[in-house]
Amino acid sequence: MFPNHAQPLVTAPAETAVLALLLAESPLSRVELARRTGLSSTAVTKAARPLIVDGYLHELPPERTAPGAGRPVNPLAVTVDREFFVGIKISGEALFGVVCDLRAGLRVTGGRQLGEDRSPEAVCGLLGELVEELLDADPVFRERTRRLGVAVSGDVDRSAGLVRYSVLPGWRDVPLADELARATGLSVTVENDVKALTAAEHWFGEGIGTENFALVTIGSGVGSGLVVNGQLVTGAYGVAGELGHISIDPDGPPCHCGGVGCVEVFAASGAILASARGATGRADLSFDDVVQLARVGDRAAREAFATAGRAIGVGIATLVSLLGPERVVVTGEGLDTYDLFGIHIREAYAAHCFKAAAKCPLTLRPLPWEEWARGAAVLGIQALLP
Ligand SMILES: [Zn+2]
Repeated sequence: MFPNHAQPLVTAPAETAVLALLLAESPLSRVELARRTGLSSTAVTKAARPLIVDGYLHELPPERTAPGAGRPVNPLAVTVDREFFVGIKISGEALFGVVCDLRAGLRVTGGRQLGEDRSPEAVCGLLGELVEELLDADPVFRERTRRLGVAVSGDVDRSAGLVRYSVLPGWRDVPLADELARATGLSVTVENDVKALTAAEHWFGEGIGTENFALVTIGSGVGSGLVVNGQLVTGAYGVAGELGHISIDPDGPPCHCGGVGCVEVFAASGAILASARGATGRADLSFDDVVQLARVGDRAAREAFATAGRAIGVGIATLVSLLGPERVVVTGEGLDTYDLFGIHIREAYAAHCFKAAAKCPLTLRPLPWEEWARGAAVLGIQALLP
């Protein structure tokens, strides 16, 4: 009755290729589109026609490439306000929401603090209110929004619209897409937040034009999203890119995941705090205290960050040696303390990468919470394609 997924906008491979390329890199000439997609110019024109009729694409005024260069060309461009997309990021404390246009341009933002009750029912209720508020911001949003993307940390089955596990209390096997489709009337895509952010960066950020790309988040946890051969890797069992749970010391301390010596055991902000508390004998220290101590040169605090940095560097080197991405974007709230462990990340990375794989640059990219919500909105944009 309330299908999770509205039909894709395009189904034919040629239309899909043309639309996908223009979403990322509009405007482009038909010649460029033909070259990049491997289609003939005639096939590009044929593929674009229904999208122009539907108002998703338009032709720009003709451009003459050079005097006497022959027939003028009409570049094709995405009509960005043809459709809008709501994106919501669910964090442990709050909801962050955005409305984006067809090329993931931010149009409006909003948020809600979560209350005491963080059950799926309570969070869905707040989420429905936030969607209404965002759509009320402009009459065209309500008129032209059909899709909602939701990003949440944890184990998410995107195809089933199911949150199998999240850190939020009571969140086990929650059919979130169906519940939100019923509440909002929108077509809903649910995805793990790091994967959604990776897709957004791949299509509209640092990863544009790359076939192999990775995003690494550092902070309260360590995670990664992977793009291989142009596709976001979801993994056969819904798990892939669990960088935080690669074991880098088989004799190391136990991890909350049940493993031992995982990257997170050394690198999560909680691990840095525990290590500094242990070394100083001061159980009253907060994470901010440890940051302050490290910045004024306290040896124990600095060593806790150094250990974390080395673990992250080894973890990223493992990922890069396995996949050989063109670029790795490093983001997350942990960037706030990059001054304290950045050098250790880079040294460990360089020392552990296999040969030429180390050419892969690490790009630091601070991404505020709206960017995570934008990642959720991109789920909706991607749902236009099959
Ligand atoms: Zn673990």
